[in-house]
This record gives sequence, structure tokens and C-alpha cells, in this order.
Amino acid sequence: MKFDPASSVQDTLHLDPATMGVNHPISDSATFAFDTGDDMLACFHGEKQAFLYARHWNPTNFEFSKALAAMEGTEAAWVTGSGMGAITSALLQLLNAGDHIITSVTTYGGTYAFLKNWVVKYGIEVSFVNISNLEEVEKAVKPNTKVIYTETMTNPMLQISDVPALSKIAKKAGAKLVVDNTFTPMIFSPIKLGADIVVYSMTKFINGKNDTTAGAICGSMDYINSLIDLNDGTAMLLGPVLDPLRASSIHKNLFTLHIRMKQHSKNALYLAERFSENNIPVNYPGLETNKQHQLMKSQMNEEFGFGGMIAIDLKTVENANKFMHIMQERGVGYLAVSLGYFKTLFSNSGKSTSSEVPENVQKEMGMSEGLVRYSVGLDNDIERTWDIIKECLTEIGFI
Ligand SMILES: *Cc1c(COP(=O)(O)O)cnc(C)c1O
Repeated sequence: MKFDPASSVQDTLHLDPATMGVNHPISDSATFAFDTGDDMLACFHGEKQAFLYARHWNPTNFEFSKALAAMEGTEAAWVTGSGMGAITSALLQLLNAGDHIITSVTTYGGTYAFLKNWVVKYGIEVSFVNISNLEEVEKAVKPNTKVIYTETMTNPMLQISDVPALSKIAKKAGAKLVVDNTFTPMIFSPIKLGADIVVYSMTKFINGKNDTTAGAICGSMDYINSLIDLNDGTAMLLGPVLDPLRASSIHKNLFTLHIRMKQHSKNALYLAERFSENNIPVNYPGLETNKQHQLMKSQMNEEFGFGGMIAIDLKTVENANKFMHIMQERGVGYLAVSLGYFKTLFSNSGKSTSSEVPENVQKEMGMSEGLVRYSVGLDNDIERTWDIIKECLTEIGFI
């Protein structure tokens, strides 16, 4: 039977056994008591399962993590206070001094900066590759390669990773394949395609409200337990845990994610088609003419569409800035970083979310300085939105 991430999430719903409440009480405790000192010691030694301290586990994060694990089809998950908290903990758990990681050169700017500038301080080797060039990935493998890292849909080039092929390369190398699925929750189920670990910035589509930052790590029970091991777990010792008040609120938003993703995708496809008809260079993997279209189709859970992200190319920063300014004035959306919000957000990637990536590397990736990245919102009437965008394009002389 086909894997259905939305039904898997829904199947985790259950009443709170203590109160019969439809939602669960929010855990308001940082520490948890034990009957006896022996019980507490047994918990420290991992011989007894109990809530001990909220940096490790608390009931609210535990419930939420089960729903996220169900969405990905993993044994377990753990939630963090930001996407970077998830990515850095997930990777540092797998990498020791002297180890090697292969990463897509097109990743989120913060991830790029972490791998370019930060991990090298601890003697971890990094190779940046064009993740679509499987030969290049294979050639980059070394005896000390421990991780291959990519984003299912990369930021901001919307490049689609061939997860099954990368999984084969990782297995052969004895490395773990870690995938950031932030742009495409539910659309891709990377674990089902062969990934070992999935990470998220839940700040984006999963929460969908832009009221907080949060992240998640999904993987095997052994791996998640290793992350929060009291003696040497990266997440336990660096302490990026998500606050339960936020966990409770994001958990509830997870149950509308499937509907939101469908609407983001529907609106994005509509706009991408209009841009294309009007000869504006547009990158959207949902367009049949897009060179990533077939690769995306072969991996996706089709009912959720091709996602809410679009990139158009206006050639120069000046054009991009002028265009974004008038779009904001006319109410199309906001000139802001981030994505997965109910209102459309747009930004010029080279001068914002990818500004950590040096200009020559941006050029190598094929990133135009006039690239405007859209996170298309949940507009009920996207035709009305297009009419305004068209006016703005006319005003800057592009139509
Ligand atoms: C935003 C983002 C991150 C970082 O997440 P934060 O919640 O901002 O820490 C990582 N990966 C991708 C693809 C993102 O879009």
C-alpha cells in the first residue's frame, strides 16, 4: 500500500487519557520527581524509562515527536528550538574529528555557513558537490566519509535530489544519508526513498504561522536515543530543545499541514504557469517543461502537489528590488525571508537567505542576481493575485 503521511499523522490522534480532552495538557514542568533515589539512578543509567528533565524529554515534546515520526515513517523523532538546532545536532552526532561529509553546494545559507566555516574548526572535512551530478558525488566519497547531506528540494534553486540514487551511494560508502525536507513536507517521504535521517526547519511549512522558530530530527530509535544520551548525546549536551508551549502549538498545526500543502501547491502551479506564458524565466518543478519535473514525479506523493516555492529571474538586483517593493505595496505579499506562511513572501535570494554563499559560488550554482524567490501563500483567489503581479511586471517593463 502507498505510504500516506497525512493519514499516518492523523492516526496518532488520541484523547488525553487523564481528562478526555481532545488536545493534551501542555507540560509545564522542567523537572520530574521520582519515588525513590534508586528509581532516579536507574533512569540516569537508562535502565528505567521516565521523564527526568525537560532538556531531555517532556510529555508534550514526546507526543509531538511521535506524530512527526509517523509522518516520516521513522521509529522516532526529537524536536528542537530551530531548524539550525536540528541540522547542527543531527550532523554533529554523526561526525567526529577526522570524518568527512559530502554536501550539496546549494543548501540553506545557514547550513552552508555551518559546513563551510564552522565544522572545519573541529577537523571535519567537507566536500561541496553538485548533488544532481551523481558521478561527482560518487567521486567525492573517501574512506572517512560518514555523511551525505542534501535538501530534497534545494534552496533557492529548487533542484530536486535523487534520493534513491544518493541512498545507494551512501550505503556503498557506509555513510548516512541526511535529508533536509523543509520545503516539501508530506510531498516527499525521504525515509521511504532510502534516506537515513530527515531534518526540518518547522519554522516554515510545518508550523505555517511564522510565529516561532522550531526544528525536528526524524530517524531510528537508536539514533534518536544517541542524540539525547546523557553522557555523549549532541542534542542533550548542546541543549537546543523546543519549549513545550511552542511544541503544543506547532503540534496542532501539523494536523492541517496536508490541506495547506495542497493549497500552496495549487497556487504556486497557477502562478508558475502564468509567469511561463508571459515569458518570465520561471523555475517550478511542477511545470512539465521543467527539467526536474520527471525526477520529482518519480519520488513524490502526488496528491500534495509540487510545493509552494517558485523562483523567477529578473536579471538584475535593481529589477528584483523595484518589483518586490511594488508587489508589497499592492498587497501581493511581504518582502521577507522565510517561507511556508499563509501570506506570500518574497525575497532576492542572493542578497538575503543565500548571502552567506559567496558570489562566485552563487554563479556556479546558476543563481542569478535577479532571482526572486516566492513562497506562495494560501490565497483563496490566486487569479486576483496574478492580476496584481502582472501589473507590477508591466510597471518594471517585463511584460
Ligand atoms: C529556514 C531553513 C533552515 C533553518 O531553519 P531555522 O528554523 O531558521 O533555524 C534550514 N533549512 C532550510 C531548507 C530552511 O529553509
